[in-house]
Amino acid sequence: MTMAPNRESVETSERREPRSRRARTLLRRAGAARAVPALGIAALLVVLAVRVPASGDGVDADDARAARATPAPTPSAASAAFAPRTDRASWQRMQPVEPAPEEIGVAVYVGDREVRGYRPEPALVTKTTEVREARFPATDIHCHWTIDRDPDELLRAMDERGVLRAVNLSGGHGEALDAMLARFTAYAPGRLLVFANLDFDAWDDPGWAERMVLMLERASARGLAGLKIFKGLGLYHRDASGDLIAVDDPKLDPVWAACGRLGLPVLIHTADPVAFFTPVDRFNERWMQLNRHPDWSFFGKDVPPREALLEARDRVLARHPGTTFIGPHMAGNSEDLEALAARLERFPNLVVDVSGRVGELGRQPYSARRLFLRFPDRILFGTDRYPGRPDQPRYRLYYRFLETDDEHFRPYVHPFAPSGDWMIYGIFLPDDVLERVYRTNAERILPSRVLDALDPARLPASLRARLEDGPRP
Ligand SMILES: [Zn+2]
Repeated sequence: MTMAPNRESVETSERREPRSRRARTLLRRAGAARAVPALGIAALLVVLAVRVPASGDGVDADDARAARATPAPTPSAASAAFAPRTDRASWQRMQPVEPAPEEIGVAVYVGDREVRGYRPEPALVTKTTEVREARFPATDIHCHWTIDRDPDELLRAMDERGVLRAVNLSGGHGEALDAMLARFTAYAPGRLLVFANLDFDAWDDPGWAERMVLMLERASARGLAGLKIFKGLGLYHRDASGDLIAVDDPKLDPVWAACGRLGLPVLIHTADPVAFFTPVDRFNERWMQLNRHPDWSFFGKDVPPREALLEARDRVLARHPGTTFIGPHMAGNSEDLEALAARLERFPNLVVDVSGRVGELGRQPYSARRLFLRFPDRILFGTDRYPGRPDQPRYRLYYRFLETDDEHFRPYVHPFAPSGDWMIYGIFLPDDVLERVYRTNAERILPSRVLDALDPARLPASLRARLEDGPRP
């Protein structure tokens, strides 16, 4: 079959990249997999050759479809997957399946037949709501940007997306932190917020905790908005003797206490998705993601079990009731919202953010919606991106999930699933919940001295009006 020379195929061929070494490795593995004798119906997923930005789901392929250069599998191929084993003749009668271009794809083996680039397109006729701006002026509590970003560009992108405040969690420490505060917070007070990080490389220095507390105190006076702890605590950072630093190491207690005293929320990333701790085999629901980022798997590594990490984090929450902790990525419990609900009940000082977990939430829309309605004051909007990142669609995907009752859509615009391969459903939150998730919950936990520095006169008219008049029409 020849593709019509339309925009899609042009873009696709431009995107084709020379195969990387890793892709070749994957291809070799694919070859090995193919050599396994196929019995009955065997399905294997194979990433053929993928080149993606290191930080994940980048490609703004509105044209996700652009990359779908494969002709859709014929109905006969789909029904053949359920054909009785003995009916080999009907398999042989199937139409030959056009091989997909080699740059991307999932390969499915049915018996000894292989379909590359398998990507069934839903025949459902459902509505698609495009939501370009948050319904209420939003705080993105979970951004990462580097010092070289242009603050004006960030602000412009925020204005377009209805984002009132964006929080850079990669503030660093020491001089880097000072520079970050000067370039962003001082430039756009109350809009471009910065969280500090701790200097774990200096962990063994005498007086480490006191020095970190001093840094937080000084930075607070310069507009610091909080403290971010990366998942390295508990998983990577080691002391001089080579032992992992525990999430609940008592040496950190003065830091947590100081944050409570200074009114600084602590966003603490602990553990990771369940699939990062289980074998990277054909049962792993994030196989594709972990093959693109093999170092993200903790399976078989010298780290505590996932649940032990979360329990250590829980002990910190219990010891510091006067400190507000933000559990990013649904506090590490996005696969088990009952377990998350129990934690929210148990720890009034815990709030969570949705960043990076809309895929997880949207595949269990009933449970997710119930959770939001049950804990409307405890969930924050966040993306794990930054406004204006040129190649990301995350804001409008997240808005669509939170605000609409759109059904069965992909939580990404990649040509393949960047994390888990599932469809999601919007949870159409009511306005009183949306307003809290987008706006007022963050305003409750961020330091008022930081929020109050906002000058409404400097806001674009649209945002200013919505601050005063309520939701986007
Ligand atoms: Zn993050």
